[in-house]
Formats: sequence, C-alpha cells, structure tokens
Amino acid sequence: MERTFAIIKPDAVERNLSEEILERIESQGFKIVAMKRTLLSKAQAEGFYDVHKERPFFPSMTSTMSSGPVVLLVLEKENAIADWRKLMGATNPADAEAGTIRKDFAENIERNSVHGSDATETAAFEMSYFFSQTEIH
Ligand code: GDP
Repeated sequence: MERTFAIIKPDAVERNLSEEILERIESQGFKIVAMKRTLLSKAQAEGFYDVHKERPFFPSMTSTMSSGPVVLLVLEKENAIADWRKLMGATNPADAEAGTIRKDFAENIERNSVHGSDATETAAFEMSYFFSQTEIH
C-alpha cells in the first residue's frame, strides 16, 4: 500500500465540485485515510510550494491557493502516487486526457482543481506539512 497527498483546490471547492471529486477518488479504489477542509494562509501556500518559489507564476499561484477553502486529503491505494496523478490529468487542462479531473473541471493551468504529490519524498513532505500521524487512519 502507498499513500499520497491530494488537495481539492479553491476553484473546485468554490464551484461545489468537492463531492463529485471525492466520489471519483473513492470509485477508483482509493481509501481516504485523512481529510480536512480548511483555508490556507498565503504563507502556508508559499511554504507548501517552496520548490516553485523562483517560478514567475509563484505569487499568483500561491494567492489563488489561499483565495478560498480547500480540502486536504491523504489517499491510500496500491500505486497511489502514480494512479492519483493519472486520475488528475496533466497540469494544463488543455493537455489533459479525456475523463481526467483536470480535463473535466479545471478552468486553466493555474486554477486546475486538484493537486497530487509527484514522488515518494514529496508525498511524505506534503502529508506531514498538513497532517500529524494521529490524524491519518
Ligand atoms: P502539478 O504537479 O501538475 O500540480 O504542476 P506543478 O508542480 O508544475 O505546478 C504546481 C501548480 O502551479 C500547478 O498545479 C498550477 O496550479 C500552477 N502552475 C503550474 N504551471 C503554471 C503556469 O505556467 N502558470 C500558472 N499561472 N500557474 C502554473
């Protein structure tokens, strides 16, 4: 079993898509082992996306991530990291495959509805950034 970290981003929560996204997650065999609805501060978003701090889109993207409530998730499944990335689709919805969450729901490359860890090390960092061990069951 593998765990990954996911976010339903403000653009999706704002459009009442949380439930539909959670349904897709569960129907694809992921167990939701931690879940929290919260509002990120700009500083929390900046810390989370620290690896992107030199990118031109960093200020705008971290403002977007702190613009409204999010749903933070830890998902468990065999091959969870790769399978969640596949279900999400490409970063830019214009490039995302049919049937992926980003293809169906993302508004643009920045307001792209969901986040998912891209590797084992980032998944470990991202889970521990928002959840303590006692919150994951
Ligand atoms: P991800 O792993 O697919 O989420 O993509 P990245 O790690 O490359 O980027 C993190 C997030 O930054 C993305 O999910 C987008 O919300 C945002 N982002 C990435 N590339 C761009 C871009 O070229 N322009 C803007 N405005 N935002 C971007």
